[in-house]
Amino acid sequence: MLKYLEQPDRNNYQTLVEQYKEKIAHLEYRIAYLERIAKISQTLNSTLDLDMLLRSITQVATELTNTEACSILLYDNDTGELKFIPATASTVAEKLTGIPVPIDDSIAGWVFKKGRPMLIRDVTADPRWNKQVDEVSKFRTRSILGVPLKIKQQTIGVLELLNKQDELGFTQDDIQIATTLASQVAVAIENARLWRDLQKAYEELSELDRLKSDFVNLASHELRTPLAVILGYASFLRDEVSGQASQQLEIVLSSAIKLRNLIDDMTNLRHIKTRQIELSVEIFSMRELVQDVLAEFKSLMRAKSLRLKTAFLNGDDPVKIEADRQKIYLVIANLISNAIKFTPENGAIFVGLARKGQQITIRVADTGIGIDEQQQNKIFEDFYQIEPSMTRRFEGLGIGLSIVKGMVEIHHGHITVESVPGKGSQFTVTLPISIEL
Ligand code: ADP
Repeated sequence: MLKYLEQPDRNNYQTLVEQYKEKIAHLEYRIAYLERIAKISQTLNSTLDLDMLLRSITQVATELTNTEACSILLYDNDTGELKFIPATASTVAEKLTGIPVPIDDSIAGWVFKKGRPMLIRDVTADPRWNKQVDEVSKFRTRSILGVPLKIKQQTIGVLELLNKQDELGFTQDDIQIATTLASQVAVAIENARLWRDLQKAYEELSELDRLKSDFVNLASHELRTPLAVILGYASFLRDEVSGQASQQLEIVLSSAIKLRNLIDDMTNLRHIKTRQIELSVEIFSMRELVQDVLAEFKSLMRAKSLRLKTAFLNGDDPVKIEADRQKIYLVIANLISNAIKFTPENGAIFVGLARKGQQITIRVADTGIGIDEQQQNKIFEDFYQIEPSMTRRFEGLGIGLSIVKGMVEIHHGHITVESVPGKGSQFTVTLPISIEL
């Protein structure tokens, strides 16, 4: 018992103090290390500048491990070799950039293949050491600590720390520091790669979009003129001839009209998407407009024996509205054309007009095939068609409703759909009586 109460002798006491001092110094060093790592993580999350990140990581790596240099090698899928990447702002790094290192018979290659750290205290005694690298860089390598750069279990390269500056050589701590920093480097490289791929995909997409726009522009422009000639001559000849020839010309004419409508649709969609749309606002009667549209589709409805029902407010109310007449015409024409297209023979179409406060609603309903609930939002997207185009029974590009929606929205209005599959659909367009421009 007494033994423990005795004063420790002076020597022992001194040793204990030394040991504590050492422990404190080590802890201080660990804290500084953790602070640096935390800083790097912060930078990693806030920047996509890979050069800057690698530079700061390699600098921290050499400082924390007390080494002379740090280099990063990445695996090149095309050549099957490792290559130095510029990770420090030094002339040595510049000279090394792009230099290939074989996977077999090299220290970095071993680390890469095995996916494990490797420590070489004296490179001159190791047959795998590649002298040529030193010859190119004019750097004299003595010792190497190599750790793998890993992303989700896959090794993408190697981080090397060169020439430990103190006599004891590399320690377990150095391996830990290098491994932690290597994981930061791997994440930074992966982020930069993903970002670069994303940028590339975006550029390709923009280019494709531009090409598509140019094509639509050119095609619609180049097609319009000959089509106008066909339309002109066909209608002139139809009026001149009689009998079977007249019927055949009618077919030519209706095909040419379909083609013109397709071109108009493509041009309109492009204008809506590029927001190059100009409104030519006037005051007109909505009732007259709907009647004009119905007159255009009369023969089509008759051909399918469709009954037409209308409800145009009370009496002769013209239902005046201030809007772009041509564009609203297109909206109603598209809805009625769809109603006819998707309603089997002997069905019915309903067109109604109503006014509520400062708004007008136009309803186009049919007793057609209907649209199931999941599809009801999608039909307003560009080129969306419920039936796949190859097996379709119906004609069309699948852009009519996206144009309709675009045109309605430029007028500060909105469009909704209600439908029961097998029973029919109803589209309701709501427009303000006066468009505020
Ligand atoms: P398109 O008619 O040229 O295919 P739209 O954009 O006008 O293109 O319509 C998109 C799709 O919405 C159509 O292919 C069709 O599947 C569906 N659809 C539109 N209107 C109706 C309707 N009245 N009845 C049933 N389905 C419809």
